[in-house]
Amino acid sequence: MANLPAHASPSLHALPTSTQPVNNIQLSPTSHPYDTTPANSASETNSISDGDNATTGVPPIVSPPATPGGTIPHTHISHPKLIERLPEVECIVRARIPTTTGAEMFLHLYHNDIDKKEHLAIVFGNTIRSRSLDRVRPGECERDRMIRGAYVGKLHPGRESSWYENPAKRGTTGHNEGGAVHESEVISERPSEAPLVRIHSECYTGETAWSARCDCGEQLDEAARLMSLPMGTLNEIASQQSRTVPNNVSGGVIIYLRQEGRGIGLGEKLKAYNLQDLGNDTVEANLALNHPADDRSYGLATAMLVDLGLGVDSNPHGIRLLTNNPDKVRAVEGPGREVVVKERVPMVPLSWQTGGKMGFTSSEVEGYLRTKISKMGHMIQ
Ligand SMILES: [Zn+2]
Repeated sequence: MANLPAHASPSLHALPTSTQPVNNIQLSPTSHPYDTTPANSASETNSISDGDNATTGVPPIVSPPATPGGTIPHTHISHPKLIERLPEVECIVRARIPTTTGAEMFLHLYHNDIDKKEHLAIVFGNTIRSRSLDRVRPGECERDRMIRGAYVGKLHPGRESSWYENPAKRGTTGHNEGGAVHESEVISERPSEAPLVRIHSECYTGETAWSARCDCGEQLDEAARLMSLPMGTLNEIASQQSRTVPNNVSGGVIIYLRQEGRGIGLGEKLKAYNLQDLGNDTVEANLALNHPADDRSYGLATAMLVDLGLGVDSNPHGIRLLTNNPDKVRAVEGPGREVVVKERVPMVPLSWQTGGKMGFTSSEVEGYLRTKISKMGHMIQ
């Protein structure tokens, strides 16, 4: 693969640049109101802070050549809702998904005790496993386990054991437990360093309906690429574009939360779009509809990460979180710091990274990003 595809499909090319530089925006971390928020002070015990990425040289997927400058008053800073306890989550089923880029991922479907939605974890690499999925369930047979995805290695016609791909190994060290042959060692592999994690909220318009009002589709694609492409390929691309890319040898997870439209649902989001066409920005539109600027929460994401073995109870390396939203760092770590974010890796829009050669531009997305920076505390640099 010579280059990163521009957007959702490798066959989609970058749209012609009609970039009207976004002026009047202050991106400097020193002027950022995040410094004064409770969320930030709580995270100061961690290695994460606004200044870290600017001073330690970690990832910065490069400041765009046309990084906007200027000032806009921060009027409606929005923070994710913090929760008091972690929800209970259970991975119901997982399946291998070969992707159009050639990479493979495992899609994990979760149920939980706070809503009826089917939240998802998209897992890249072979070292990240769901504990609730692997748990032996009373009365189930090996075929039951394989059907719900609780197997190691690969499925193939005629396979009989969920624990061994090779039937010859069966019975040498395994033992029966709840009707299944249990071999704990076969699933003991763990990430050797901090895996990449992206918490992504569902966006039907941006991911499925080709919307250029937001950059959700591009962010989802870019996160998957960073987690799945071989490091050699990524480094080659990075050197061509004079940027750095984070190491992905420990794989990655995209937690895909079903909270459309920052939690207000698709119908209300479409109303907000009409208000934006009437002259409001994305925050003003939500407020005009009597919704919070951001109604999302991340407790489910934290609980799913813990279930995937990435919490402090089983992962000494922490995670590297792909996000431009510093508040998300604290929210994802959970009420009792069940997960540790070791590093924040910024997600710079492709069109900014490449001077318009890749990605897409639209007046809507430029306004959307401007509002995210000026009113929602995002740091896109
Ligand atoms: Zn979106």
